[in-house]
Amino acid sequence: MKDECDVVRDLLFSYSDGVLSQTSKKLVEEHLKKCENCRNILEELKQDSKNHEQIKEIDFFKIIKKKLSKKNIIIFIGIIFLVFIITFNILVFNHYNEIASTMEIYLQDNISDEEVENIKNKIIAISDNIELEYVSKEKALERMKNKFGDKAYLLDNYEQNNPFSASIEIKTNTKIETIESSIQDMPGIKKIITYKNNNPYELFIYDNFLK
Ligand SMILES: [Zn+2]
Repeated sequence: MKDECDVVRDLLFSYSDGVLSQTSKKLVEEHLKKCENCRNILEELKQDSKNHEQIKEIDFFKIIKKKLSKKNIIIFIGIIFLVFIITFNILVFNHYNEIASTMEIYLQDNISDEEVENIKNKIIAISDNIELEYVSKEKALERMKNKFGDKAYLLDNYEQNNPFSASIEIKTNTKIETIESSIQDMPGIKKIITYKNNNPYELFIYDNFLK
């Protein structure tokens, strides 16, 4: 009996998996009928394999959870990206509205005070809601020196022979184009710069990263 138990126990695992040959299966079943010990061992085996199945199921749910959180991460990144795009566009178009409302009128060196006044008056007559600043040649040079910072000494030679133009700078939220077309032929004007119709993205990148 003891020897038979040893043989049967070796076979029990395969038996509970249902992979035994017909002959071996019969032998095991015959033995189990008369041996309680081996029946108990078979029960334990079955219990074990049940637990194993459950563990497999738990693993399966873990994987699903993992996949789900991966999906959430992708959604999260998508939302961050979208917020970034929207914010970027708001910044770009605010900047554009700001800069598109400005105009720089560069003046010829030989312009008379009277001609400067005429230009100013013409502009003021068109738009009452306006910021207007006259920038003299000296002031333009000083600004450029400020921009150069440590390297301002490079501009020292220009004190006597100032290459910068005087200008009138305008800021208004309306009528930039009207102002431009009505003054462009006035005497003493060298060049008018506006930012209307420029690419808003190029303006933004230039002003924020390249200037
Ligand atoms: Zn037995």
